[in-house]
Amino acid sequence: MASKEFHLTIDGQCVPGKGRLEVINPADGRVFAEAPAASSEQLDAAVQAARRAFASWSMRSAEDRKRLVRRLGEAIERHIDSLKRLLTREQGKPLFEAESEIERAVAWCRESATLELPTVVHEDSPERYCVTHRVPIGVVGAIAPWNSPLSLAMWKIAPALLAGNTVVLKPSPFTPLTTLRVGELAQEILPPGVLNVISGDDALGPRMTGHAQIDKISFTGSVATGRRVMQSGAGTLKRLTLELGGNDPAIVLPDADVDRIVPALFWAAFRNSGQVCIAAKRLFVHSQVYEAVAEKLIAFTAGVRMGNGSEEGVQLGPVQNRLQYDRVRRLIEETASAGHRLLTGGRFPEGCGYFIPVTLVDNPPDDAAVVAEEAFGPVLPLLRFNDLDEVVERANSTSYGLGASIWTKDEDAALAIARRLDCGTVWINEAMHVSPLVPFGGHRQSGLGLENGVYGLLEYTNAQTISLRRRAELTT
Ligand code: NAD
Repeated sequence: MASKEFHLTIDGQCVPGKGRLEVINPADGRVFAEAPAASSEQLDAAVQAARRAFASWSMRSAEDRKRLVRRLGEAIERHIDSLKRLLTREQGKPLFEAESEIERAVAWCRESATLELPTVVHEDSPERYCVTHRVPIGVVGAIAPWNSPLSLAMWKIAPALLAGNTVVLKPSPFTPLTTLRVGELAQEILPPGVLNVISGDDALGPRMTGHAQIDKISFTGSVATGRRVMQSGAGTLKRLTLELGGNDPAIVLPDADVDRIVPALFWAAFRNSGQVCIAAKRLFVHSQVYEAVAEKLIAFTAGVRMGNGSEEGVQLGPVQNRLQYDRVRRLIEETASAGHRLLTGGRFPEGCGYFIPVTLVDNPPDDAAVVAEEAFGPVLPLLRFNDLDEVVERANSTSYGLGASIWTKDEDAALAIARRLDCGTVWINEAMHVSPLVPFGGHRQSGLGLENGVYGLLEYTNAQTISLRRRAELTT
């Protein structure tokens, strides 16, 4: 890997950007690196390289592509130490979390390569052989957010390449560096043009989504941007996978073992300082255990260390960027000034880093902004409920539908509630468990299509049916 400089990867080469992007360490608010910014011409060059590479990559055997995607994972694994430090500096998350994110990227390469695309034979008779198989789509534009830049990029790259597509990947301008390094690693493994990595300013994403030579966009980010992606892709009827925001309910039933679940609830809400699409963002607690859960969450919070993620022992880092810091801070300040009681947090340390202490809000009304909006930061409303029909209705009364969790000793009750929740994944007595083998996606405004597992792999393919009339049966 190149040492200090960061480059675009276009057609298997390191290419300097036409422009530059400053990259800020959120722990101190200072610029610590520069990333290349790709011009429109460089985007075109990346797309053309991907298109040229598609001709041969799509014709390789599935086994060959699996081998190379696994090798990409192995190369990332060999560089885990430098990559995790870089990821912490640009993203802010603590080192142990950065390491786990890179391990997930590795796992996605390794395990996605065990998936098989289905082939369905509809008829194999003396008259006809009729089969539907899956073919790659072409050039995939992959657009990733800043909260888990590498692992969420790999959710796209691994299946797209395995299915025979080539890729132009764009990381967020807030967190381009780790992804650019992985592009450099890929140059040693993948044929030129198969994976292009280009960073750039705010104009680059819209150029990709409107690009006539990109066949599919796989996007992870906010609902508002997801809508723009869909509009912009309409002109060329792009295939789309959209993984968008969430406002996930966590529901604690009265029989839950409060002592056992409180640490899990805390991390379900506050891992990566709450900047996880499937973080628990509304904590519904039955009245019988509300006080106990609140008290123990406050106590647990007091023992968690927030700080610069590069320091050993830090458990929570800063919010990733200034815009998000301002947004979450305003949400907390407005919550307090509206008279809703803060159980803990709500005070903001002096200094240049984007630190927001964990803030718990005591039973605000469902229409308060801190409940109704996706905070995407370290603030969580605790919401009291009294019966199951009520909590199911309140949990579902949002335009989002990404995930949910239920916490109870009664598995049957939990399974029955799970079926009534309108969202893509329901976890019971755990949260955020995702796997390269398990489909993941949102209902309603949380997205379109699926990632991961065979369903996710299928999204990188078109169906092609071949119907063969047997010669012997041709009528004269
Ligand atoms: P964002 O929508 O601001 O940006 C996401 C990406 O889109 C970035 O790379 C950005 O540069 C690019 N982009 C911005 N405008 C664009 C446009 N008009 N056309 C094309 N691309 C454009 O999102 P973010 O702030 O980076 O990420 C946070 C959001 O992502 C949260 O809402 C979170 O819930 C969501 N998210 C969802 C998932 C999921 O799997 N469902 C996972 C992680 C994050």
